[in-house]
Amino acid sequence: MIIEPKIRGFVCITAHPEGCAYKVQQEIEVAKASLIKDGPKKVLVIGASTGYGLSSRVTASFSSGADTIGVFFERPSSNGKPASAGWYNTVAFEAAAQAEGLYAKSINGDAFSDEIKASVIKTIKEDWGTVDCVIYSLASPKRIDPKTGEAYRSCLKPVGEAFSNRDLDANKGEISDVTIEPASEEEVANTVKVMGGEDWEFWMKALSEAGVLSNNFKTVAYSYIGPEVTWPVYKNGTIGTAKLDVERAARAIQQEYGVEAYVSVNKAVVTQASSAIPVVPLYISILFKKMIEKGTHEGCIEQIVRLFKERLYEGDMRLDSEGRIRVDDWEMDEAIQSAVAEVWPKVTNENLRELSDFDLYQKEFLALFGFGHEGIDYSKPVEVDRPIQGLIV
Ligand code: NAD
Repeated sequence: MIIEPKIRGFVCITAHPEGCAYKVQQEIEVAKASLIKDGPKKVLVIGASTGYGLSSRVTASFSSGADTIGVFFERPSSNGKPASAGWYNTVAFEAAAQAEGLYAKSINGDAFSDEIKASVIKTIKEDWGTVDCVIYSLASPKRIDPKTGEAYRSCLKPVGEAFSNRDLDANKGEISDVTIEPASEEEVANTVKVMGGEDWEFWMKALSEAGVLSNNFKTVAYSYIGPEVTWPVYKNGTIGTAKLDVERAARAIQQEYGVEAYVSVNKAVVTQASSAIPVVPLYISILFKKMIEKGTHEGCIEQIVRLFKERLYEGDMRLDSEGRIRVDDWEMDEAIQSAVAEVWPKVTNENLRELSDFDLYQKEFLALFGFGHEGIDYSKPVEVDRPIQGLIV
């Protein structure tokens, strides 16, 4: 069939298999250009199909030559409808990995469940024996507690008081004023339950009890801090409260299992998760322009290659005062932040494309779903039904 983008709010409900493959190949080339000498050889990525998790899987395989198991929650094609972007990304990733003789198996299901954890552990035991590195990169609106069966939903709201600022409708390219009412105590607690550190701890407990952690094992979960303009809805909001709990979990994992466990604070990038956060798309559009001008612009893959090579495996962690890895350092650079802050109040619908790089934001958003690549002929029909070769569940 011929597949076109169908955008609904901040998601695109279609995805193009060849466009997704094209983008995965671009990431592979970036990773191959930065080989890591003493990197991990067996890597589990939880949340491996899009965004930072996909880039982690690509980096592990193509910079470090690692075998990977990827866990994600994606929709296969059905009744002639295209699969989700993460499904097609994984089809392309696995084909490329296997073509180079790298082991790549995937598990499609709810990473919060005990069943998926058991299935991953069975695969590690049978195929690897031990695992060297676990990357925890889930972004989910919902979690079912595996112990009680109760469902929790996360939300993106301020805590304590309402927050008003400027927001960008990234679909229409229109700026408007937005006011977000504060979360209730229950909403804060539910967001911590979904996006906090408890599930990462459950993973580590299960892996440790199964005796599959290698001697030089490391685990990393991803976080974000960002500029003050987004703090009420991010750092000091429901999601930031959950991220503080991820930092607590890192300390608990270190103590409990005696392994290296880190939170890596990454930069703001366009992903399915970040496009849903109020205020952030406008900030990212301005940030892109300023970082491109300074020559420090990075996407997911550049961030993760830098994380693996310069912090985790070849360089020096350079932990901050809270014990976190900071690969958001170029984003938080004072010159960049003051340039963004100067532009922020001046942006209007009329000068949006001049003062920010909203064109790049939109291009990157479409590229998440395999659209807008110059090398692809989108008028040609394509096969939507594409199997993931190493799919276990
Ligand atoms: P994303 O939406 O691109 O990826 C989320 C991944 O989680 C996908 O692979 C998806 O399939 C998987 N997933 C979601 N629910 C699942 C479930 N129940 N079971 C199994 N898999 C599930 O998100 P992203 O932006 O790459 O975010 C990943 C992490 O990086 C998050 O912790 C996020 O806070 C952090 N982060 C993101 C940014 C940003 O700007 N996007 C910046 C810094 C840190």
